[in-house]
Amino acid sequence: MSEQREQAVSPAVRNRVDNYVGGEWTTPTTETSQPVVDPATGDELATVEYSTAETVDEAVRTADEVFEEWRQTPVVDRVQYLFDLKAELENRLDEIATALSREHGKTIAEARGEIQRGIENVEVACGMPNMMREGSGNVEDVAPGMDEYAVRQPLGVFTAITPFNFPAMIPLWFLPYAVASGNTFILKPSEKVPLSSQLIFEAVDAVGFPDGVVNLVNGGANTVNALLEHDDIEGVSFVGSSPVAKHVYETAAEHGKRVQAQGGAKNYAVVTEHAAVDDAVPNITGSVYGNAGQRCLANDVVVGVGDVYDELREQLIEAAENLTVGAGVDEDTDVGPLITGDSRERVIDLIDNALEEGAELVLDGRDFEHSNAELDGHFLGPTLLKGVTTDMEIAQEEIFGPVLCLADAGDLDEAIEMVNSTEYGNASSIYTESGSEARQYKYEVDAGNIGVNVGVCAPMGFFHFGGRKASFFGDLHAQGEDAVNFYTEKTVQIERWYS
Ligand code: NAD
Repeated sequence: MSEQREQAVSPAVRNRVDNYVGGEWTTPTTETSQPVVDPATGDELATVEYSTAETVDEAVRTADEVFEEWRQTPVVDRVQYLFDLKAELENRLDEIATALSREHGKTIAEARGEIQRGIENVEVACGMPNMMREGSGNVEDVAPGMDEYAVRQPLGVFTAITPFNFPAMIPLWFLPYAVASGNTFILKPSEKVPLSSQLIFEAVDAVGFPDGVVNLVNGGANTVNALLEHDDIEGVSFVGSSPVAKHVYETAAEHGKRVQAQGGAKNYAVVTEHAAVDDAVPNITGSVYGNAGQRCLANDVVVGVGDVYDELREQLIEAAENLTVGAGVDEDTDVGPLITGDSRERVIDLIDNALEEGAELVLDGRDFEHSNAELDGHFLGPTLLKGVTTDMEIAQEEIFGPVLCLADAGDLDEAIEMVNSTEYGNASSIYTESGSEARQYKYEVDAGNIGVNVGVCAPMGFFHFGGRKASFFGDLHAQGEDAVNFYTEKTVQIERWYS
């Protein structure tokens, strides 16, 4: 690291955002920039430059040039870099968590948790020698003296474009698998939270991957489009909102690339009369208000079935009232700020509209002000609405804020109909101690991730992670075996020897 850059590093948060290309920290050519803002205080932490198509081209060419050599590096040697990356990330966990919490607003515990979930994917990708072996197979004597088998081969340069809400974990859903399987890689993180990636790439730099294998390009929509349209990018992984996911899917496909694009969500939880309500309530509260509701697995509509509704409502109100709102870096905080003022306004508009459509406000966080005047960022207090029905906008649109919508249903069939009424299919949870209710739910709910008494059903790194309907565009999901299938092509080889 240069002396100049060293000086630019505050203990936990750096104030410069650079690209990392060809093993060097580089400054992009740029036409636009934007501040990186601490959402709890409004303090400017750094400025992020939007890389131009020219900078993107340099990064892609660099990654493309080293691909053949990296491909020829034995997979057992490639994964040694990932073992080292795991250690580097673990050593830097506190530093990354603090920066992440400052730039995003989530609590330190949540930041640490997501980094650990990211590291989990590094661990899984360390098993790439075995994963490359699986799913191939071979058959001797398909004809006299002729054998046939399939091998996995990497394809070239891959890119991942990631959202703001998990600044460390989501890049690590892709980076480890892409490079372990022999591809080279370019990350384009969210321009709202680029600092976590800076620190992750300091870990990458410390590991000493061969120059050009792992690259970082910062920027916004134009940077993304330059990646999507570049001839030498083989594949694109995307996570973000559904309209952008659809755009990425269509544009990347039009330019001949393979693409996996994870979109937005609208998740319901159902609590039946057979639920252990005392256990369900903290779980639901964590799902809805954790991460200030800014997660694609938040169950922001909770349906009470039959007689459980009244007890459920009272317990959820009490739990929400006891949450502490504040800056993520403050230890007693449960609910941090929203990422931007625009996000806060959008959520308030959704609440206002729900009230016009007939919902009732039980807890109102719209006018929340922190007692510490320095914390005048984008806070919204925990909000709870009851009487929400599926024809309301708030029951169909992703909220992405600390808002819980309570609804009720006469029976499980009706509840499942409500769950399936949205255009999304990312996740859903049922709270019940009845096996047959759980089975019906798992069978009939159209979502990629289903929790039974689990409110944030985020699959482990060795399972795939992806939604359905408008929550996902593509076929192969992130993580696990799907990642290996996405990042490799299976080639059938048929051979016969005459002497
Ligand atoms: P976003 O779609 O605004 O941005 C995601 C990425 O796309 C960023 O890197 C951004 O620079 C880029 N981008 C934004 N607009 C673009 C455009 N017009 N053209 C090209 N690129 C563009 O999403 P966000 O607000 O950062 O993230 C929140 C969304 O992500 C939510 O909808 C959430 O549900 C979703 N999400 C989904 C999952 C999942 O697994 N399905 C996981 C996390 C987040």
